[in-house]
Amino acid sequence: MKAIKHIGLVIFLIGLAIFTALPLLGTFKLEAPAFKEITGDKNIKSEFFIQELKDNVYNKTFNGMQELSPAVASVLEKSNAYHIKNKEWDKKIYISPSDMATKIGKKSGTGFIANNKGLMWLLTFGLGIIGALLFILPNVVLLGQKGIKNDGVYHESSTNRGWIGWMVFIFLVSFYLVLYFASEYATNWTFLVDPISESLSGNPAGHWFVYGFMYCVVMSVMAVRMYIKYRHNIYQVFRTTSVLFFQIVFAFIIPEIMVRLQMPYYDFKNAFPLDYDFFFQWNLKDLMNSGGIGLFILVWGIVLTLVIVPIMVYFFGKRWYCSWVCGCGGLAETLGDPYRQHSSKSLFSWKVERYLIHTVLLFAVVMTVLTLFSFFAETGTVLGIKVSGIQNVYSLLIGSIFAGVIGTGFYPIFGNRVWCRFGCPLAAYLGFVQRFKSRFRITTNGGQCISCGNCSTYCEQGIDVRAYAQKGENIVRSSCVGCGVCSAVCPRGVLKLENGPEERRINPTEILLGNDVDLMDLLNKK
Ligand code: SF4
Ligand code: SF4
Repeated sequence: MKAIKHIGLVIFLIGLAIFTALPLLGTFKLEAPAFKEITGDKNIKSEFFIQELKDNVYNKTFNGMQELSPAVASVLEKSNAYHIKNKEWDKKIYISPSDMATKIGKKSGTGFIANNKGLMWLLTFGLGIIGALLFILPNVVLLGQKGIKNDGVYHESSTNRGWIGWMVFIFLVSFYLVLYFASEYATNWTFLVDPISESLSGNPAGHWFVYGFMYCVVMSVMAVRMYIKYRHNIYQVFRTTSVLFFQIVFAFIIPEIMVRLQMPYYDFKNAFPLDYDFFFQWNLKDLMNSGGIGLFILVWGIVLTLVIVPIMVYFFGKRWYCSWVCGCGGLAETLGDPYRQHSSKSLFSWKVERYLIHTVLLFAVVMTVLTLFSFFAETGTVLGIKVSGIQNVYSLLIGSIFAGVIGTGFYPIFGNRVWCRFGCPLAAYLGFVQRFKSRFRITTNGGQCISCGNCSTYCEQGIDVRAYAQKGENIVRSSCVGCGVCSAVCPRGVLKLENGPEERRINPTEILLGNDVDLMDLLNKK
């Protein structure tokens, strides 16, 4: 069995290595039809740009995006500088050099990678999936009987912030940086999944399609790991199945099919303010121009946030969303599960968490109020503030850097719920409801607790579960996402996630703990 695992690891690493090398490989040549299509775009009114593109990019062969991207950027910057100098604002091209290179790269891919999509898919995703499954499946036998399976977590460099953990960190952060800030380097990845994208939406794949597909693949493979590891706990099995279903069907397949049916791209489970651009002007206009389905989405989005979300949190706690439905939570609970012990349990982290997450919520709400005001008043500036400027800052700092680069990239270092715990404005909103008006609590059978600390160690939200258990106190915390892992790793069955009457839900049990009082002080005062 161990040999199968090792073979799986080697196969997985080969697939990963090919995938990682792809951004710098491939041949690109902008030929006549693609050139015509790009320069025929109604947003390109600059003859200067077209001429420069013809002179410097057209019909030339570029080896890899690292050659094509600077050439395109130089053409674009030169053209824009020329028009700015001549004050020809209508001829300036308002697309970033990176986006322009992405567009041109996608249309001009030639050579082995672009012409052998199926084979390249097998060599990357295929090997990755087969290798990962060969690595994971032998655990059915190797882990022995079902039960808590965390032996050795602090002895393996992949899960104890050792060198493998840091390598994973570097890979994830780099991946997100490419995705958000240098998407032209993802062009070769898009070729791999073109056939899948075309079969779903009818369009070739963009880099966000690659991300969506990869998200589903990674979650599916890691869900197999979850099923094996937590097979003693039915709650984990159902919960994993649920997040997987919502990710694959709601976040990935339905939006793509909607595009094929000429409808707006929309993830029906993505609630505002996590879906922070729902009320952005372009989205509102888009929805209003999309007929009945657009209006339905508009109403659904509002009802989801204002009615469905709080009512469900009242009955079931925020777990119904964070641990059963949400895509961010889904990735955290599958890909991120090996790292959950890294969540800091310090009081300092708790303080940072409360300030940060509520600041993000406030930021999202203020931005949305300003956006809606500017939309109805038909002005770009409110109270002297440029609304698009605020939106750009939020999109960059929160939407890209916090939720993406830090939120997922930092799994191996800070634990798997960095985003959910410190940054997600929807989690903050759900947290308010859960804390003050909900039937959810984790009950603790304190007499059974042996103070092993498993529950606190594996609480991804940094809650000191053991402290509650020792006192026999119910756990009612706004940050608890109801993942149930504290309960799943408790060897004494102390913890139970329950929905029940609101009365006595919060039952603080006052007992003296070590730090509360210095007994010698009391004694000496006598
Ligand atoms: S307290 Fe338990 S259920 Fe809540 S987040 Fe922590 S581990 Fe998950
Ligand atoms: S509640 Fe369970 S897991 Fe937590 S310290 Fe007590 S016995 Fe250990």
